[in-house]
Formats: sequence, C-alpha cells, structure tokens
Amino acid sequence: QDRRPIVQNSSTPAGRPVRRVVIAGGGTAGWMAAAALSRILGKRLDLTLVESDEIGTVGVGEATIPTLLNFHNILEINEREFMAATMATFKLGISFENWRNVNEDYIHSFGLTGTDHWTAGFQHFWMKGRERGLASDYGDYCLELKAAQALKFAHLPNNGMNYAYHMDASRYSRFLRTMSEHHGTKRVEGKIAKVNTDAATGHITSLTLDSGSTIEGDLFIDCTGFRALLIGQTMGVPYEDWSHWLFNDSAIAVQTDATGPAVPMTRSIAHASGWQWRIPLQHRMGNGVVFSSRYIEDDAAKSLLLSTVAGEPLTDPRVIRFKPGQRPETWKGNCVALGLSSGFLEPIESTSIHLIQRGIIRLMQMFPTDGISAHDVAEFNRQSARELEHIRDFIILHYKVTNRVDSPYWRAAREMEVPASLQHRIDLFRETGRVFREPTELFAENSWIQVMLGQGIMPRTHHQTADLMGDHELSGFLNGIRDTIARTVAQLPPHQAYVQQYCGIP
Ligand code: FAD
Repeated sequence: QDRRPIVQNSSTPAGRPVRRVVIAGGGTAGWMAAAALSRILGKRLDLTLVESDEIGTVGVGEATIPTLLNFHNILEINEREFMAATMATFKLGISFENWRNVNEDYIHSFGLTGTDHWTAGFQHFWMKGRERGLASDYGDYCLELKAAQALKFAHLPNNGMNYAYHMDASRYSRFLRTMSEHHGTKRVEGKIAKVNTDAATGHITSLTLDSGSTIEGDLFIDCTGFRALLIGQTMGVPYEDWSHWLFNDSAIAVQTDATGPAVPMTRSIAHASGWQWRIPLQHRMGNGVVFSSRYIEDDAAKSLLLSTVAGEPLTDPRVIRFKPGQRPETWKGNCVALGLSSGFLEPIESTSIHLIQRGIIRLMQMFPTDGISAHDVAEFNRQSARELEHIRDFIILHYKVTNRVDSPYWRAAREMEVPASLQHRIDLFRETGRVFREPTELFAENSWIQVMLGQGIMPRTHHQTADLMGDHELSGFLNGIRDTIARTVAQLPPHQAYVQQYCGIP
C-alpha cells in the first residue's frame, strides 16, 4: 500500500503555460537537467541556470551504472569525447570487500549470469549443479564479472558487455555546461539570497541574487544539493529520515594520484564502522570513507582513510554530512527537486546520478507545457517514491545480511528490523531461491542474487525444473556457459590499455 500523501491544490492557474524554466544549482543534477532540457525542449523554453562559484558543488559522485549510457544516447553524446573530457574509465561492477565477513569478497557486476529457463532462473540450475559437484563459483557464469576480475575490457558486438563509467564529477559538469550553453541555456553566476513566492498560490515567482538582480520563472528546478533551498526551505516539503535503516551519515573524500593501471570496477571496502570507496580515473583516484558518526569520530575516520589510500593526496580531506532519506514530494507547486535536494541514501550502489536521470526523464514525460496538472504532480511523486524505496531496500540488504559480528556497527546492522518489502525478498530467496523483479524496479534479479549469494545466503531448495536435467546434461549446460565466457575473457585486452587506445592517450 502506498502511504504517501497525494498532493492537492498544486496546479498553476489553469492554462498558464510554462516557458521560463529556472534551474537553481550547477552541480551534476543542475547541468544534467540543463543539458537534457536544452537539447530536447530548448527551442520552446527560456532556460536559465544559476550557480554559485563561492558555494561550489559537493564534488563527489564519480561512479555510475549502465543506465547513464541511455541518457547519453538520448543526448547524442559521443562516448570518446565524453571519456576524454571527464577522464573516464569503464566500470563493470563493484567489488565488495570484507562485507560478507572480514577477508571475504564478492563482486556485484553488471550483466547477466548464465541462461534462465522461463520457469526458473539460472541460479536454480547452478544450485543443482553445486549439489551434484558439477558447478564452480556462481560468478564463473557471468561475463562482466569475469572480465572485471581479470581487469579486462572491450566493447563487444551487439552490446555484448554491459558497462558504466567512472568519471571526474567536476569535469562532467563542465562538459554538460558547454553542451547546455550551446543549446541556449543562460548561465548566471551568483548566490541566491531569497526565493520569492506568490502568497495566493504558494508558487515560486523568482529568485533574488545577492547582487540584487532577480530571475523570474514559471517552473523552478531545485538542484541546490543538500541545502534544498527551494523544495525544503521555501516550499516546506519535509524530509523523511531513514537513518534507522541506513546508519551512515558522513563521508570524507580525498583525491590521490593514480597508482598503477585503472581497474574496471569500483572498490568498496568495508571497515568496522562503514566502508571506503576507490574509484579509478585516468588521471587520479577518487577515495572516500563513508561512516556513521554514531560509531566512529571524524578524526579516526580520516586517519583510517589516509592510512589506507594508494598514492599521494591531491586534495585536503573533506568531511561531508548527510541524512539518509527522501522527500515524499519531489514536485510541489511549480518546484521540482532533482539530485541531493530530493533525497540521498548513500553511495554504495552508485544510484544517485541514475536517480537524477530518472527524474529528468520523468519530468520530460510530464512536462507542463500548458500548465501544471495536480495529477501529473501526484504521479511524479508516486513514481519517484516507489523507485527510491526499491533502491533503499537493495542498499539496506548489504548491511542486513552480513556475517560480520566484529563491531557494534555490524552487529546493529544484522539485528535491525528492515522494511517488510525487503524482509519478504530475503525470506523468499532463502526459502526457494526465487527473486522477482517488478517492471519499474532498477535492480534486476541478477543483482539481488549476486548480492544475496555474495553476502552468504544460500537458498534451502531449488526449482524442480533443474531436477529434470541429468548430470551429463547439466554439466554440459554449465560448462558450456563457463567455457564460452572464459574464452571471451581470454581474448579481451587489459582495461587500462583499452582505455588508452580508445581515448587516444599516448
Ligand atoms: P551539488 O553538487 O551540491 O550542487 C549544488 C549546486 O547548487 C552547486 O552548484 C551550488 O553552487 C548551488 N547552490 C547551492 N546553494 C546555492 C545558492 N544559495 N545560490 C546559488 N547556488 C547555490 N552518486 C553517484 O551516482 N555515484 C557515486 O559514486 C556517488 N558518490 C557519492 C559520495 C558521497 C559521499 C556523496 C555525499 C554523494 C555521492 N553521490 C554519488 C551523489 C552525487 O554526488 C550527487 O547525486 C551529484 O553530485 C549531484 O549533486 P547535486 O547537483 O544535487 O548537488
């Protein structure tokens, strides 16, 4: 059941068209929105983006998931140009180290594992094979996972390899800015000092900058990051706090010079009170520690980070605070929130940039050219909330099903009560090996299975379809998949060499 409030009375005066769109904030969210709106609706809109150099951006957010390729396709972004401009590398998944238990690792990769039968997913055949001593590691049946492990990459015909990118966040904003300005977005530098509203409708009418100038608009997109200047501070939309499920509320980020070849996966290394990321770019490494301030002090987290990073620091370590949760309304009145202003869980599965992209696409699908419809607003909020709740469950899973008991943080994670929707998925898998994906959900069966098996849940039973295969047939089936993958991976070039050749780096 959906318990979210339905937005009432949120129409503009009937028939009032939306022509002037003002984007507040020029981080990844602001410039992604500007790039998409100007590229696709640019001729019909008067688009202005306001950003403050003095305030700056959050400066993190460098690991992505494969859906970003769709966004780039829509915008007709050339991949080589994008990669050169953002010093990007390829990403095939995430290596989860010490998550299941200390010194136990697994990879959550993109792509599919094995081949499904319509009655039963591949995992059932693998479980049967394992029982009969015919199957090797579950990961051996996934091309992307094996390529990631072998530190290899290439574009394969027919999109045969599912991938995403690691990229420099500041360079990505600059790249999108050039594109947006080319398509007519006006950029205004300045600090927003006041957000003006209409007393009768509650809608935002204009932004006053500290220079005294005013920017009027019909629709305002809040991309002001954690400040949430428009959606939170002005429109008064509350923030739903999920820190009882997601304990992390702080991060410290530092960039180091790159040491050694870039690996085609994000590394996520758990520690006693959180985890650390390593994101390899062409020219440097992005590092950070994510932690709960309830369990570890900033200084201790900083020391942990600096004592474990590879390479020399290029920046001063920066503390970032956040509150995991969401705004139940990301569209209110004539204000739509995208990015951190709309909510943030934590970066473990690199989902925030994806959510920005989803918000942009949803806004374009419901674009209020002829005036804002309360029904569109309600639908936008319903879809956004559902989408985030699914991702929330997937993220909580990583903490809940750990075997770690070596610290109060992990013990509390194991013992916490999780949302009923997640508990059901875990119970279903544990009991039957089954996972079902609803059409609008981001994470497919393969993701849930890789993480649940990786974290140590072994289902009690498998589907009877797998029992219909004799040992000979089953081992032929399993070995056929594994050998084809092994042969393909053997022919792939090393990831680092491929990036250099692809981006024309000498
Ligand atoms: P910001 O980058 O903070 O931009 C806010 C903008 O608003 C800035 O331009 C600022 O100048 C402007 N602004 C604010 N106030 C004013 C004002 N008064 N006047 C004028 N301008 C103003 N996402 C991923 O997908 N992958 C990841 O790997 C990932 N890692 C993350 C790690 C951490 C620790 C955190 C905290 C987040 C991570 N994210 C990640 C999320 C990602 O960083 C954000 O979703 C993304 O950067 C978008 O941020 P934003 O544009 O909403 O906010």
